Amino acid sequence: MPESAAPIYSASRLSTYESCPLQYRYRYIDRIPRTEESIEAYLGVRVHEVLSALYQTVQGGNQPSLPDLLQDYYRRWEQHWHTQVKIVKRDRSIDHYKAFGERCLVSYYQAHQPFNRGEVLGLEHRVTTSLDPHGCYKIQGYIDRLVCVGTGRYEIHDYKTSGRLPSQGAIDVDRQLALYQLAVEERWPDAKEVGLVWHYLAFGRELRSRRTPEALEGLKHSTIAMIDRIEADAEFKPIKSSLCHWCTYQNICPLWTDHSDVTQIPSPDALGNGRSMEAQSRSLVEQGEPDAYAITRDALREAIMAAAEHEGTEMRFSEHGELWISASRFHSKANLDEVVNGWVRLSVESLPLLFRQVELARLSAHFIDKLQRYLALSTSEDRHATY
Ligand code: SF4
Repeated sequence: MPESAAPIYSASRLSTYESCPLQYRYRYIDRIPRTEESIEAYLGVRVHEVLSALYQTVQGGNQPSLPDLLQDYYRRWEQHWHTQVKIVKRDRSIDHYKAFGERCLVSYYQAHQPFNRGEVLGLEHRVTTSLDPHGCYKIQGYIDRLVCVGTGRYEIHDYKTSGRLPSQGAIDVDRQLALYQLAVEERWPDAKEVGLVWHYLAFGRELRSRRTPEALEGLKHSTIAMIDRIEADAEFKPIKSSLCHWCTYQNICPLWTDHSDVTQIPSPDALGNGRSMEAQSRSLVEQGEPDAYAITRDALREAIMAAAEHEGTEMRFSEHGELWISASRFHSKANLDEVVNGWVRLSVESLPLLFRQVELARLSAHFIDKLQRYLALSTSEDRHATY
């Protein structure tokens, strides 16, 4: 591919493909304009703007007070508001989200004033890199805050307004900031230490991770493999999941409009598999119990997806939380009793077969451990189902 024709990928572009290839096609190939914006995205953008403005003010030699900061937030919230902001969770109000953003900012302000850690090299700073020497696999991203904290020591800071706190395991295989690290190391060759820092604002928590040169090399290869898969995809099949409720293309998606015959990962109900983890989790929330299942499950899901990509293995989760692997990974389907639409549902029992058939013995112990933990959790929850 000539260098000039190569599309530029980003972490969010890759994630979109993973969660739904059809959404990817609508957004990045057909470039269908999006008029709707989820309130979660709206809130996230406003909080990012305010934190960027805060550091700009500090760079100018001043420090805004907390009331000034919040005033800036309210002003931006009103200024940018539009009628296409969509609230999916109908039991929540605009004020709920606005107050959530305010709490994120208060917690960050109190924990980080006077905001003088290191030398800020960039805010919302665009970085680019190529994963190969020929410039065929280009990556770009925007670093919320890039900081030099000493000679050759850099930190990549990212603000998250998510209501879910990932596990350290998920953070350690997160793709986004590791791709940014590749770009930072290319731009600043003196970088001998790059810290990856996530600010989970709603929790007042800072999560940190480091990547070894080997891990970065693995990331390059798995990302190139994924880009190859995307560029070879001729079908861009939709995947129905809970994320559909936030999809701005739902009104044109065949899964939600004409119910045409498209490939989906089947639901457990259709297969007679009984109670799902999603259902249990919802039930716990309805009972006012802490959603511990969801937190553990989601952390493992995130980690497995990242690890699967790293290992060049295609895995997906059904909307009911089941783990599926592409049947194309199996040399023989003779012993698989549950192959649906080209996917095989994984269970603890099927792991030995999986290991033999796709030679998972060559995959990392780290990845296998994540699979086993996820499946063990699933099995345990099925066992303790109460209805
Ligand atoms: S509505 Fe769901 S299945 Fe359809 S394009 Fe969007 S994410 Fe994909």
